[in-house]
Amino acid sequence: MSNVFFTPARVKKWKYDESMPGKLERLLKEIKLPNYFEKDEWVAIKTHFGSNGAHRIIRPVFIRKVVDSLRAIGAKPFITDTVRIKGLDYLEIANQNGINHLSVGAPVVIADGLYGNDNIMVKAGDILGEIAVASLIYDVPAMVVCSHVKGHINAGYAGAIKNIAMGAISGSHRHCGWKCGRGAMHTIGEGKFIWDEEKCAFCFQCEEVCPLDCINFEDNKFNYHDERCWRCGRCTRVCPEGALTMPGNDELFMRSLSEAASAVLSTFKQNKVIYINFLTEIQPECDCMPAAEVPVIQDIGILISDDIVSIEQASIDLLLKEDPLPSSLAEDEEIKGGEDILFNLHKKPYLLQIEEAERLGLGSRHYKLIEV
Ligand code: SF4
Ligand code: SF4
Repeated sequence: MSNVFFTPARVKKWKYDESMPGKLERLLKEIKLPNYFEKDEWVAIKTHFGSNGAHRIIRPVFIRKVVDSLRAIGAKPFITDTVRIKGLDYLEIANQNGINHLSVGAPVVIADGLYGNDNIMVKAGDILGEIAVASLIYDVPAMVVCSHVKGHINAGYAGAIKNIAMGAISGSHRHCGWKCGRGAMHTIGEGKFIWDEEKCAFCFQCEEVCPLDCINFEDNKFNYHDERCWRCGRCTRVCPEGALTMPGNDELFMRSLSEAASAVLSTFKQNKVIYINFLTEIQPECDCMPAAEVPVIQDIGILISDDIVSIEQASIDLLLKEDPLPSSLAEDEEIKGGEDILFNLHKKPYLLQIEEAERLGLGSRHYKLIEV
């Protein structure tokens, strides 16, 4: 059984110790960082930089607290994420969303090179075979995985497993393309798009959201650049008419996420990775989408653990106790109190991620929740 330290979001007294940044400082003391990180050791702080429009990422003030705590024990932290859009553009987005060297107190770098081609193939498992792990994540000896917990149209629930499964893997590999990158999870099989002309409203949202300019509608036909496309699935996710789909398999997708997370973690020695899950601004979709919806669940708090399975299970158990927020997508979908909000939003078997991660030996679903 692993320890998961938890601090609730509610503020009971008007003093700094009761603030969320103050509580995060307490959590970081509680986990005893010197047990994991050494003096002068480089430590990657893996987070998501957001997108042009999706602003509900982990706020820079929290990243700063993690940086300061690591610096206080002599470690050398830096902030990183992989290419979602081309690296220089993505660093601009990070800056726009408040994550830069000045705000967080540490360098902000891309983990897989400015073109997303800098990665190393690592053994994953039966579904994926091998997968392209960002070279910086591969090389760095230690990591703090800071995950914004939220919903996700494909994953149902997105926490620490998805953060490293998708976020520490490149979009594609220099030689074997999308099948060695995130696309191998997003689509099982050949990754062929199905465009239904009858359903298409020619709104061009799929064209606008594509980070690689793969799509155009010349002559009112769906034309796309198959070679260039890394099957990130954004185009299918934004389509309001269900006119654009990619064949997938929910069960294999969930299990492949855990396989990819396992591949990433296999590049670290034991006790070199800790996890911080932020159950705040819990919106229904991923931080890579072109907009952030209002939260569907009230802020719950922050969790920290060295067990990825335990922290995911504890996060889900806390989410299951919450009621849907009024005036949110959860209310639109008529989700009632006592129901599984994220499951009802996306109808995805997200618990498979956690079950598979436990089966692969990444941690335990049995945990002790310690309120700090
Ligand atoms: S999956 Fe869609 S959005 Fe992503 S790269 Fe391919 S065409 Fe572009
Ligand atoms: S987003 Fe969907 S409806 Fe809009 S143009 Fe693309 S395929 Fe057609």
